[in-house]
Amino acid sequence: MNIHEYQGKEILKKYGVRIQEGIVAESPEKAVEAAKLLIAQSGQKWVVVKSQIHAGGRGKGQIVGSEQRGVALAKSVDAVRDITKNLIGNILVTHQTGPEGKRVNKVLIAEDVYYPGVSEPKEMYISILLDRTKACNVIMASTEGGMDIEEVAEHTPEKIVKEWIDPAVGLQPFQARKVAFGLGLEGEAFKDMVKFVTALYKAYVDTDASMFEINPVLKTSDNKILAVDAKVNLDDNALYRHLDLKAMRDLAEEDPLEVEASANDLNYVKLDGNVGCMVNGAGLAMATMDIIKLSGGEPANFLDVGGGANAKTVEAGFRIILKDPNVKAILINIFGGIVRCDRVATGVVEAYKAIGDIPVPIIVRLQGTNAAEGAKIIDDSGLKVQSAVELKEAAEKVRQVILSLK
Ligand code: GDP
Ligand code: MN
Repeated sequence: MNIHEYQGKEILKKYGVRIQEGIVAESPEKAVEAAKLLIAQSGQKWVVVKSQIHAGGRGKGQIVGSEQRGVALAKSVDAVRDITKNLIGNILVTHQTGPEGKRVNKVLIAEDVYYPGVSEPKEMYISILLDRTKACNVIMASTEGGMDIEEVAEHTPEKIVKEWIDPAVGLQPFQARKVAFGLGLEGEAFKDMVKFVTALYKAYVDTDASMFEINPVLKTSDNKILAVDAKVNLDDNALYRHLDLKAMRDLAEEDPLEVEASANDLNYVKLDGNVGCMVNGAGLAMATMDIIKLSGGEPANFLDVGGGANAKTVEAGFRIILKDPNVKAILINIFGGIVRCDRVATGVVEAYKAIGDIPVPIIVRLQGTNAAEGAKIIDDSGLKVQSAVELKEAAEKVRQVILSLK
């Protein structure tokens, strides 16, 4: 699960990681109030207005139909109002959102931390994530902050330091010092970075996160280390033990069909093709998508209805697939292991009747326990549903449907 920058920063702050302070706002009036409060607290004259969307690259991103960037420095309270008006309710396109962009619903009003002082502020990069090949967490740090880390990795990989953490003993003090040293810090900034990395790692482990990316981490002109941005991904499978974090989910940021699917305990991922599919089991779903491609079609989605498919889940699955206007045919591929094929077939027929006339051809392949009974129920239903037992047979029927579309 992804969360917003302001939520990520809330987590960091709780763990003692210094952050660029801010207040989230959902209207220009609230943004102005927040700015006044921050200016009074920080003693700085300026604030930054930051769009809150689940995508990075906001600083360089642009609002559709205007010159407005997704992150902007406001040098007056009036500017805060104007910038917020330009952002909220509008579509922000960044290199991570795709051309369709994302609607901005909230902004974070943040204190200006790039104020002039004894030295230049310096942007750095730190992330923590799971290194699957080494089966342990890795801290990555770079002096090249504010840039895309992929670019740094491609052109100047020597500028990224990596520190792998032994899960049995956790982050050791010498490792935090190695990171700070690798970033070329000394004196107070070095000490502050050691604290920063230590607190950051504890936050990452305690929240069962799968990624923390802080870009930029800033060394302010008075040598404090703080998080200016926070991209946080939490492990969905661990959310049951973090109800406070689970509550941070923002459904407005997710695909509406995927939200509906998860409300029905279905595993659904929308794709761009024309053949919808409904399958029990993730592995079988992947194989079914291959079959669709081999038959000349393109899968419109991945949909795993799980081991206990019944009439209700099948109906929910149908409704979700049918909401995708690109779908021209549906292939249902169910293996009756735990679930019996005759029950799935009854579920398909009931769901079909509950929805009414389904405008696209449906091919149902049932295999496993009571497969023949299942096929008979489909064939006898009088509905526009074709049954198949062998996968090859199902693929051939899909191919016929696709040919008829051309
Ligand atoms: P991203 O573009 O989505 O990664 O958003 P960031 O939170 O990283 O902000 C983008 C950029 O805004 C940063 O790299 C900074 O250059 C700039 N920025 C952020 N906070 C401040 C601030 O307090 N003052 C100034 N002058 N610039 C800031
Ligand atoms: Mn950033």
